[in-house]
Parts: sequence; C-alpha cells; structure tokens
Amino acid sequence: MHKAFEYRLYPNRGQRRLLLSCLAESRRLYNEMLESVKAHYDETGKFLARYDLTYRFKGRGGEHVPQSTVQTLADRLDKALKRFFHRRELGRKVGFPRFKSPNRWHSIQLRQYGSGRDVYLDPDTGRLRVPKKLGGRLKVKQHRPLEGTPKTAHLVYRADGHWYVLIVCDPGDAPEKRSFAREPTAVGIDVGLKVFATDSEGEMVENPRCLRRAAKGLRRAQRKLSRRKKGSQRHKKAAKAVAKKHLKVSRHRKDHAHKPARGYVDKYAVVAVEDLRVCNMVKNHHLARAISDAGWSQFVNILCLKAESAGCRVYKVPPHFTSQLCSKCGEVVEKSLSVRTHNCPSCGYVADRDHNAARNILARAEPSYRNADNGPHGTRSPLL
Ligand SMILES: [Zn+2]
Repeated sequence: MHKAFEYRLYPNRGQRRLLLSCLAESRRLYNEMLESVKAHYDETGKFLARYDLTYRFKGRGGEHVPQSTVQTLADRLDKALKRFFHRRELGRKVGFPRFKSPNRWHSIQLRQYGSGRDVYLDPDTGRLRVPKKLGGRLKVKQHRPLEGTPKTAHLVYRADGHWYVLIVCDPGDAPEKRSFAREPTAVGIDVGLKVFATDSEGEMVENPRCLRRAAKGLRRAQRKLSRRKKGSQRHKKAAKAVAKKHLKVSRHRKDHAHKPARGYVDKYAVVAVEDLRVCNMVKNHHLARAISDAGWSQFVNILCLKAESAGCRVYKVPPHFTSQLCSKCGEVVEKSLSVRTHNCPSCGYVADRDHNAARNILARAEPSYRNADNGPHGTRSPLL
C-alpha cells in the first residue's frame, strides 16, 4: 500500500499563473483524449490502447504542460476506462468516463520522483523542483519528513485556493507482524452513530458529527449559491465558499479518524472490525447522511494503513447480528436500534449495546488470528 505525504506550496505570482495554465491546459488535453477515444470507437468498435493514446498525443503539451504530465493524462484516462469496464463486468451501474469540467479537475501529476527527474524535493535548498513550465523551484513547507521511497507526485489545487504537493511513497517492506508468543492483545471495534466507535474493552470514541455542526453554515452558503445566476462572477464566488466549507469538514473528519486509529494499532496486535458495506447502507436508509458523515469507511481504511506499518493485523468480519447476539452465552437477544443496553435474559449479562457488539466482533475474528501463521511473513486475512 502506498502512503502519501502532503505539503503546502507557496508559489509566487508568476508560478501560480503557470500552475493554473497547466491545470486548464491539461484538462483540455484530457478531454481531447477522451474525444479521440470515443471517435476511434465509433470508427472501429475498439478502444485505443494506452500506448496508442500516448503516441497520438506525444509532444502535445504546448508551452504549459510538461511532456511527462501528458503521459500521465493518457494513464489517467486509461485507468478510468479500465475501471469502467471492470465495474460493468461486475454488473454494476456505471457511467462512461466523462469530460472533465473545471470543478472536477484539480491536480497535475508529475510522473517520476528523483533528482533530475520530473519532481524532486531538494534537501539542499528545501525547494520542490518541478519542470520549468511549472515554475522551476517552488517554495514548500515540509512540516514532517518523508518516509519510504518517493515514487511520484501530484500538485493539487484545493478549494481553499492553495496549492499542495502530494508525494506518494512506497513504504518498503512491512515490518514483521508481531508474533503471538504470548497471548495476543486483540480488540474488536464496533462503529456506530450514537458513538463513533466502541471497543471490546468498553472504551468509546465520541462521534464528531462534523457535517451536522457545519450543516447550518453550509446550508446558508448553498442557499446563497442557488440564488445567484449561473456563470456570473458572484455565482463563482459563492461556489468557492461552499467548496471551502466542504473541504474544512473533510479535513476535520480525517483528523478525527487518524487519532483513534493510531491508538489502536499502537496498543493491540490484532484489531477486528465489521466488514461494512457502507454503500448499501447509505442507499436504503434515512440515516444515510449521518452514516456517511461518520466516515466509517475512511476510519477503517486509515486503520488498515497504519496497521500495516505497525505490524498489526486487521480482520474484517461479517457484520450480521453482532448487536443481537449475547457475547457471553451466544443467545439471540433481539433489540431495535433505540435500545442502547444489551440485557441477556438467559445468562444475565448486561452491557452497553455497542460494547456487546464489539465483543462479538472480536470473537468472530478469533479463529482467523489464532490459526494465522505466526512467522515473520504471517499470512494476512484474505479479506484485507
Ligand atoms: Zn447471555
């Protein structure tokens, strides 16, 4: 798994202009590529291969788009097409890759990282070296060191109006999985709406409800936007304000997911979570917004990423009935969502609803981690 490091850039006025021109121009090129893919398909019934696409657009960067970035555009389109075919094969409802409008296009990819390559964070000058067409040397604030081997980078223009560089690194060999010479320290985590997460030890992580808190301001900004005439300068300004509010929420959410995830992988050798099909839940539930807001899947993703570099194992278990079963005796104790306490009539076990679920989740993962190979190259859960 790759890890990205994001640093803020401080381009001067001239460099800013170059970056924005490249952004606009590369978007135009991408759309042109898509156009030619479609035209080629209409003619021949076949899709252009990545190689042909790269060949056709060789040297088309003009004065603003570096050559290697043109190649990455072909890669990007090729990936989008492959994803489309793959999903269609799986029988999912998918749309064909679309032409990109300015508000769906925010980044410039620089292909190879390294001294004398497309992009390089120069340790001597502390500047980010990029192609001349993008301004040469950009001022960067490297607030923490890179880890692993840097591979590639993106320059991203975010809704707050600032530029960032995202350096994608290969973390290298994962550390040895902690061996289970002694009893493994394991924890199960249940994610919920009332409380963001509850673990099998009974610890809780509060739900930030970032969106709900920001909802009022967001609604107001959205109303302002809808009142203004599309295409006008004032409409653009209002759209920017809405995007900025969304950015803030997503940052808050991400930050909130990192902290507990770090705590769990540092403390435990095994972490069990529910394998939640969030997409399905969001679709058919009036709690949809609260569910996506809580950012469950983001939390689990971050957990997996951190676990990998910490030598901790994450197991995803089937989520069925984890809140209905008694974690002590296995009896089914039916309860609706509003019942917050598990109270078992057959064995007398009483616990918080989510705590009981977390214990069930842990128990479900137990056979897998007990049977896992404990050697240095321990097998990982097939679900991961
Ligand atoms: Zn019981």
